[in-house]
Amino acid sequence: MINKPFWLSESSLGYDQKQQYPSLTSKESADVCVIGGGLIGTFIAYWLSELNVSVILLEKDVLAGAASGRNTGFILPGTVEHFNRAVTLYGEEKADSIWRFTEKNYKQILDISHEEKMDYDIQENGSLILAGSEQEHKELKESISFLKRLGIDAEWWSKAFVEKQIGTDQLFGAIKTKVGAGIQPVKLVNELSRINHGRGISIYEKSPVAEIKEYESNSLKIMTDQGSVDCSMAVVSANAYTSHILNSFSDLIFPFQGQAFVTDPVSVPLFHEVIYANFGFEYWRQLKDGRLMVGGFREKDPKKGEGFSTDINIDLIHGLYDYFNQLFPQAGHPSISHYWAGTMGFSQDGLPIVGNTHMPHCFVCGGFTGHGLGFASAIGEMTAHLIVNGKADDSNLFHISRFN
Ligand SMILES: Cc1cc2nc3c(=O)[nH]c(=O)nc-3n(C[C@H](O)[C@H](O)[C@H](O)COP(=O)(O)OP(=O)(O)OC[C@H]3O[C@@H](n4cnc5c(N)ncnc54)[C@H](O)[C@@H]3O)c2cc1C
Repeated sequence: MINKPFWLSESSLGYDQKQQYPSLTSKESADVCVIGGGLIGTFIAYWLSELNVSVILLEKDVLAGAASGRNTGFILPGTVEHFNRAVTLYGEEKADSIWRFTEKNYKQILDISHEEKMDYDIQENGSLILAGSEQEHKELKESISFLKRLGIDAEWWSKAFVEKQIGTDQLFGAIKTKVGAGIQPVKLVNELSRINHGRGISIYEKSPVAEIKEYESNSLKIMTDQGSVDCSMAVVSANAYTSHILNSFSDLIFPFQGQAFVTDPVSVPLFHEVIYANFGFEYWRQLKDGRLMVGGFREKDPKKGEGFSTDINIDLIHGLYDYFNQLFPQAGHPSISHYWAGTMGFSQDGLPIVGNTHMPHCFVCGGFTGHGLGFASAIGEMTAHLIVNGKADDSNLFHISRFN
């Protein structure tokens, strides 16, 4: 049992994730500088290259080394909240539009992968949102009524059907969606970066941005410890770390720790879908080789997961392991092979934040509230269009101006 993010490790990649591109040690220039080489920065760079602008991407450490390599790899529809709560928070029309946006994101990721022949161990089996209590059952029933009325493709699984399908009588029902997949997110970032690099994007790793200077009237100078990039536009896609670069974001995007573990392979097939339970606080999936990957228990942390630390509270991992085994004793109590923590960026209203900062030429895209994969491509496209064209379809859904 080692404290190491599985996706970044040799056990999953065949090698430990390492620096693949040089560090910036010179003065360079580009139309747009993307700051942060996680899922989001990588997708923004991809979509910028579709718009024929020159791009430099700067990553502080290694690609996907932060949350993007420490998640459980679910591409889900919707937001962090159950749909009934999304309707209460955002209104029915906006909740519907956000759901459709995440469906578009899902399709885009599949289409890009197909076109670019990318392989990142995708398991396209849909998602299950499980009711862990009577209260959650009531809310998921409300959610499925909304979804059906809006013509969204989702079905209800009764308690008995859940028991038949996944072998536990301790849950109360579920929403099943066809949209939903499990992936190896580090492979996705590495594959997409390979495509980006082939399209002429310069990628620099181990190149932390120290400062963004407004330089002359229309441009920016991005300073790293050993070099700089002159650019017309920049975008900060550093998610939880946004406020380290743009201080004024400390009130808008907050760091929260999430933790997960993966077991040794289990020979019995237990689930096909990616599974969310207990209002999204706990989640699990079975990988192609039979390993069980389980995340959650942030709510059991005395600090509720707040902060930047990736030091792990081992009691949370043990608690999560016991929770899972108590639900699924048929898994046979497999040994944990890897466990880890990662830092997510949460926004005030649970939705991503996209738009200009106090510097008109500097944009931000962050605050995914534990759902970055559910937005990554579509929000990358939106951000690229906002930067290059000054407008983008659906940008009202996530625009930073809602906090004005
Ligand atoms: C345990 C856990 C489970 C999760 N499960 C899921 C899931 O199943 N599905 C899902 O959709 N989401 C999940 N998430 C959330 C998901 O990982 C994030 O939403 C997503 O990775 C955000 O991507 P990002 O590129 O914005 O952020 P990050 O991956 O954090 O990338 C930001 C990058 O910016 C870099 N950076 C920071 N500062 C600087 C600087 N000064 N200069 C240059 N670069 C800088 C960082 O090094 C980092 O690489 C989970 C998260 C955790 C922790």
